[in-house]
Amino acid sequence: MLFLDELAEFDRPTLDALRQPLEEGVLMIARAHGHVRYPARFQLVAAMNPCRCGYANDPDMQCRCSTGDPDRYVRRVSGPLIDRLDIQIEMARVPVAELLDPAVLGVGLGVAMLSSAIPYSLELEALRRLPARVFGVLMSLEPAMATLAGFVVLGEVLGAREIAAVGLVVVASAGAARSAGAAPPARD
Ligand SMILES: [Zn+2]
Repeated sequence: MLFLDELAEFDRPTLDALRQPLEEGVLMIARAHGHVRYPARFQLVAAMNPCRCGYANDPDMQCRCSTGDPDRYVRRVSGPLIDRLDIQIEMARVPVAELLDPAVLGVGLGVAMLSSAIPYSLELEALRRLPARVFGVLMSLEPAMATLAGFVVLGEVLGAREIAAVGLVVVASAGAARSAGAAPPARD
């Protein structure tokens, strides 16, 4: 997935270069001495403001841009690229009171603890206690564990190529750790 925030702030040639990979799933680079094709199948997700100040069409706030600026701002993204975006949604500004709702804050805090604070603290603790190469192998198991958790919790099934990629990451890390610590025999 390719996420472009502030879509209208990108150069137009940069955005227009996305049209071919979006349509054909292939990125072609042509130079004088030949051309190469790279696979480029991706899902494009983009976000942008309605104008430079961000308040155009806002029911509560006054847009500070001069007349015509919001239109010019939106037109920075070319029509052919806009046409290739299958779903376009206008999102209203979320009122501050809703963001401060205790239920929303509680869920946000829970997600932050589970996704960042707790795993990061545990990793730091493990790094302190374990030999570096054991820690390296454990870290390399993360994608494998994520694959397993995705399958068990979300029912997500990876393709053969993705499973092979995860396997290669694990093998490469284990190999690197093994050869880095060649003096004492590696314990498995
Ligand atoms: Zn504005």
